[in-house]
Amino acid sequence: MIRGSVRKLHAYVPGEQPEGAEVLKLNTNENPYPPSPKVFEALGGVSGDLLRRYPQPTAKDLCAAIADLHGVGPKNVLVCNGSDEGLALCTRAFCEHGGRVGWVTPSYSLYPVLTDIAELTQVTYPLSDDFTWEVPEALDVDLFFLTQPNAPTSLALPLEKIALAADRCSGVVVVDEAYVDFAEFSALPLLQEKDNLLISRTFSKSYSLAGLRTGYLLGPEDLIGALYKIKDSYNTDVLAQKAALAAVRDQGWMRTNADLVKGTRAAAARELARRGFEVLPSQTNFLFAKVPEGRDAAAVFGALRERQVFVRYFPGAPTADYLRITVGTDAQMDRFFEELDRVL
Ligand code: PMP
Repeated sequence: MIRGSVRKLHAYVPGEQPEGAEVLKLNTNENPYPPSPKVFEALGGVSGDLLRRYPQPTAKDLCAAIADLHGVGPKNVLVCNGSDEGLALCTRAFCEHGGRVGWVTPSYSLYPVLTDIAELTQVTYPLSDDFTWEVPEALDVDLFFLTQPNAPTSLALPLEKIALAADRCSGVVVVDEAYVDFAEFSALPLLQEKDNLLISRTFSKSYSLAGLRTGYLLGPEDLIGALYKIKDSYNTDVLAQKAALAAVRDQGWMRTNADLVKGTRAAAARELARRGFEVLPSQTNFLFAKVPEGRDAAAVFGALRERQVFVRYFPGAPTADYLRITVGTDAQMDRFFEELDRVL
């Protein structure tokens, strides 16, 4: 009854969503600050008449605002139900049956799942021991997912290397910029130069709207047009469109919170280093840190968990000695360090 590939599939495992007043949730890279007040104003204006009707199929108003923000045309933008939907659409639009999908390892653990769902071939490119990457002479794939800055390593790939990856890739390169608002640069300037490059963005992190499920892809009209042909007619709902539109118009709110996160990130990195952790220079809203010599990362993760402090642990080489810690508010990080000190 069940398709073979689905029977065999190892489904994506999202970070836990524990609930309770005691829980300190630093495990899924959510933003600790609320979304813009403009979002609540927009949602307050929602009428029964609006809900009665179908939403704009292409999220026209939101799409236009995003296009304005990035200085591109509306035909260069596809709004989707979380950036995860955009990534999935790419596996359906840009690969023939049995085609090849590539990414570096470690990076976002959804890519292999999307590849398996579409019955495509996984092609992985391991990062060096220090989690940097030398772009191979040829990226012989139909689709390449490049997380920039990368997760879970938190490191940025230099712009020249992103450009090189696009030049050396025989297929489409999707630069997954989920965390880019916490970084020093974006691959946006490359959109003008490369005809095989797409950029994926999300409202889940810097805009504090993970609950909405809204993201978008930017790219050349022909590639974006292909995605429009296969998306669900109404892939984003009317509430998400309204809220995301208000959020995108309030760039000041997003930037202020991103700057707060970056400040807390620097302080938390220093505190971790003081305790003997080796902390990678993060360009994201999380820290990827190697536990001190002689400590077992899985045990630290488990002991924190027992104390209701949730971080993320990825077992197996090359991440087995590391914890991924989402940057919270200053107060949340104070509690984190109190609990960490008890654990250590
Ligand atoms: N890309 C990366 C690298 C991520 O870490 C995440 C968050 N899990 C996503 C995309 C998905 O974001 P969204 O909430 O927009 O689906």
